[in-house]
Amino acid sequence: MHDDGRYDDPRVTGPGGRPSAADPVSRETTYPGWPAGGESRGPSTRPPDCDPVVRRDPPSVGVEPTSGVPRNLPMARDGRDPSGRAADATGGPVPVRGSASVPARLEPSAGPSGTAVPQQPTPQAVPDAAPVVVPPSDAPPAADYGDEPTGSTYVSRETPTREEDDPPLAMEAMRAVQILNPSGEVTMPRPARTRVMCVANQKGGVGKTTTTVNLAVALALHGNRVLVVDLDPQGNASTGLNVPHHTGVPDVYDCLIDSVPLGDVAQAVEGIPNLWCVPATIDLAGAEIELVSVVARESRLARAIAAYPGHFDYVFIDCPPSLGLLTVNALVAAQEVLIPIQCEYYALEGLNQLINNINLVRQHLNPKLEVSTILLTMYDRRTRLADAVEQDVRNHFGDKVLQAVIPRNVRVSEAPSYGQSVMTYDPGSRGATSYFEAAQEIAERGVMEPVSRNA
Ligand code: ADP
Ligand code: MG
Repeated sequence: MHDDGRYDDPRVTGPGGRPSAADPVSRETTYPGWPAGGESRGPSTRPPDCDPVVRRDPPSVGVEPTSGVPRNLPMARDGRDPSGRAADATGGPVPVRGSASVPARLEPSAGPSGTAVPQQPTPQAVPDAAPVVVPPSDAPPAADYGDEPTGSTYVSRETPTREEDDPPLAMEAMRAVQILNPSGEVTMPRPARTRVMCVANQKGGVGKTTTTVNLAVALALHGNRVLVVDLDPQGNASTGLNVPHHTGVPDVYDCLIDSVPLGDVAQAVEGIPNLWCVPATIDLAGAEIELVSVVARESRLARAIAAYPGHFDYVFIDCPPSLGLLTVNALVAAQEVLIPIQCEYYALEGLNQLINNINLVRQHLNPKLEVSTILLTMYDRRTRLADAVEQDVRNHFGDKVLQAVIPRNVRVSEAPSYGQSVMTYDPGSRGATSYFEAAQEIAERGVMEPVSRNA
């Protein structure tokens, strides 16, 4: 990248494949004072020494309480709702191909006497059919997605051949099973000690919350015990995990300001064994200011997390888009920083400021802190700009950048409106596959010999 921020050296590189899972670690380990994973949900999954939190219905805006599926949102592609049921335009069930109510293939329609009348195409049927446009022989091949397609070489955005699109059905089904891991095996190695990862970038909309939620779900589905701490007053991570976070729900604010134990506010995430979330309510918006006058204001969260040694394999802290006291608390509590970088024009702008803050926290408050992981998000393979940003980031951060790259994928952005991660919403999609690969890479790095990777 030039000093003025321009890119002029498009290179074509792509994300590499990932090795298969490492040695499994027994999932039988249980932690005293914390719920055993996977067996039961609800209040009984809370730590035994905590007051039960009353779980209320999810936010009522457009959400049907029983299914968690918003009524006013479009149905999933192929007419499936997120639970996989088929539905017609009125919301009712539609017959599934091959079922008794629908013939496996279309039959000729019956004539008045009941005899079959073959449907013959009539030449007059399409009197003004548009002439077929033949591309000129020197036109660029349609598969080159570097530029917007023009003229006769136009390829529809719906054409299911681009890599960002979801893979063919058989492959999709296979990946879905691999990602959902119904057998519950530990296929992502568990670290020897709790890894506290702060997901930070002071730019908004770069994929911090999406990354936190999906990595947490992926690791939990594959046998790791994971806690998500929502440290953004917007509460997006709580929404994405379908954890109640309306006013009155005990939240991370109580831990930071009133020193309430983390276990008293953590909620089990429904449907995902081994995953808990400390939600954020709107109360947290005032915490930045209230923390100023609190004793040890930078290390409130660190203390709260340190009270549960060994309970979790991973603690992910979803930071707000700022470098204020909340983010400083996250940096003091963590050993690792995960920076999601959006593959867009201003991607690296402001990153210096974040790195400077991380260095300051390391010098004065948390000598163990390091930038361990960079994840490229919202990668659009059709643009040369994305390639240029990827190359720039890899040149700058080296092996901290995960090989897995998260593509821009509509299923990823749809999932939160159903209170789900993309891992469960559409486990066969590219978005789910990529987050699965990223999680696997993080897990495998976590059991390798520690390498000093200070920023
Ligand atoms: P942040 O937490 O950094 O503000 P979010 O994770 O909330 O960013 O993401 C911002 C928006 O981008 C959200 O609407 C999210 O659904 C969408 N988004 C994130 N990652 C992807 C992706 N890979 N493909 C498509 N949309 C995405
Ligand atoms: Mg966010």
